[in-house]
Amino acid sequence: MKVTILGCHGGVAPGYRTSCYMINDRFLIDAGSVASALSPKRQAEIEDIFVTHPHIDHIKDICFLVENTFYEERSILNIRSTPDILNSIQSHLLNDILWPDFSKIYVDAKQKKALVRYLPIEQGMVHDGIKITHMRVNHPGHAIGFILDDGKNQIVFSGDTGPTDELWELANQCKNLKAVFTEISFPNYMDTLARASGHFTTQQLLEDIKKLRNQDVPIYIAHFKPRFFEELMDEFHRHAPKRMHLLHQEDEFKF
Ligand SMILES: [Zn+2]
Ligand SMILES: [Zn+2]
Repeated sequence: MKVTILGCHGGVAPGYRTSCYMINDRFLIDAGSVASALSPKRQAEIEDIFVTHPHIDHIKDICFLVENTFYEERSILNIRSTPDILNSIQSHLLNDILWPDFSKIYVDAKQKKALVRYLPIEQGMVHDGIKITHMRVNHPGHAIGFILDDGKNQIVFSGDTGPTDELWELANQCKNLKAVFTEISFPNYMDTLARASGHFTTQQLLEDIKKLRNQDVPIYIAHFKPRFFEELMDEFHRHAPKRMHLLHQEDEFKF
């Protein structure tokens, strides 16, 4: 599996793009920065977005992806997640007030092909040859994480979360776990705020990953808040073990 990091920050500032991972050049996990990171031509090749939760930093670029790529030949863009999350996106963002409801806009004369389709995910579904498992994590908005399994290797994507259990329990069942992509959002002194908002501090994550049996698997960190970037970097470099790596935009991994 190929994972390309289009955006890996927990906020927007010059040079900081929000959560968006591209898998095998084909589909996305979250769409916080797809329109900022890819040319319109490349954006048109994206047909599926798996969404971890409806927070704006994870979905905002769906608005611009559709706008940049709607023409008759383009395939329908499938937004895939749980019914709760899909409903939030349609009711609160693409609701014909903040932005058009693209599921009701057709590009063909026969009005069969809408710009966007909402497709609920099924547990263990196979997409593009990859088995996709999802589980609830500890974050608002009915947030979920994903485990991708190509039949040989498994990769965990926690999305936004604070201390959690099911994610690690399912990760412990993976036979060939290659990587965990997770988050740190706040410095250690903001422990209370991190817990209240469902995010990790460095200290909390170091505690939580003790639940993961495989203590060799690399842990990749996203979602630093730009405002606290320097403090977070400092704590990370002082406390993170060798197997923990900070993600950078444009990073590419093959597992
Ligand atoms: Zn986020
Ligand atoms: Zn969030």
